[in-house]
Amino acid sequence: MTTIAFIGLGNMGGPMAANLAAADYTVKATDLSDEAIERAIDAGCQRATGIAEAVQDADIIVTMLPAGTHVRSVYTNDDGVITNAKPGALFIDSSTIDVESARAVSATAQAAGFEMVDAPVSGGVTAAAAGTLTFMVGGGLSAFERARPILTYMGKNIFHAGAAGNGQVAKIANNMLLGITMIATCEAFHLAEKLGLDAQTFYDISSTASGQSWSMTSYCPAPGPVETAPSNRNYQPGFSAAMMLKDMRLAQTAAHSAKVPTPLGAQAEALYALLEAAGKDDLDFSGVMKLVNGTL
Ligand code: NAD
Repeated sequence: MTTIAFIGLGNMGGPMAANLAAADYTVKATDLSDEAIERAIDAGCQRATGIAEAVQDADIIVTMLPAGTHVRSVYTNDDGVITNAKPGALFIDSSTIDVESARAVSATAQAAGFEMVDAPVSGGVTAAAAGTLTFMVGGGLSAFERARPILTYMGKNIFHAGAAGNGQVAKIANNMLLGITMIATCEAFHLAEKLGLDAQTFYDISSTASGQSWSMTSYCPAPGPVETAPSNRNYQPGFSAAMMLKDMRLAQTAAHSAKVPTPLGAQAEALYALLEAAGKDDLDFSGVMKLVNGTL
């Protein structure tokens, strides 16, 4: 019987741990928040008081934490995962973090004799609850093959992106592209409207022409054409501008350290940062439309 330790039971980790428990794994769950642990117990997990207790008997350790600093400390502190895990345990970090931290923690784990994958996800809390996340996995092939069966209980699409850190690379490059195309889509709809073309007509034309993108056809930032889009519910998230900004910043940090010019990524980051400065980063990221059309 496989035992899984799950560390980080927040908006995403909570439902992910619940899906593993529902799949009949023994899940030892821990978090800094007692409320989060209580919710996990209600969902079939077992309480672990602290990281050492969670990981000591675990075959697999999954982490879902806010940022690189949390991941570094949870794995490498004296009372952390690496010191307390049993030999042969597999580490899966599903947090979205900076590439450098992902590669550093993986190297430390490997030096201590453990296999590790970075496995950030695409899809929000709804996909986490439904078990339909997309996983982008970085790490050695054998670690990937060991991780895959567990990931299938939490996700629908599981990709091996290559060596350690490449899961994070895939995630931030994809989200930089998404952040940019969303702003471009806002500009195009606003321009069309100001020049006398209503959103639905422009959508009908552009969605079957070369301007088409996911930002337009799945998540149209102009109210009307896509019924399920956050633009039709006052830009309630969805995927918040704050979370998009986090990913845009991770992309820029990586671009700077690799000396890769990403001028549109930099502009897009600045625009989402303006939403943050205006105290509106709790809107869906497609709410950047309000900045573009002057209705913020
Ligand atoms: P969250 O803030 O809701 O949850 C993080 C949890 O980690 C919290 O419960 C916190 O108490 C716990 N934690 C922090 N430090 C800890 C420690 N030292 N020991 C134990 N627990 C600790 O965040 P979330 O929305 O669940 O996101 C988690 C990760 O997933 C982030 O990296 C985020 O960028 C990424 N992500 C989120 C979404 C989303 O829609 N929420 C989508 C894709 C990816």
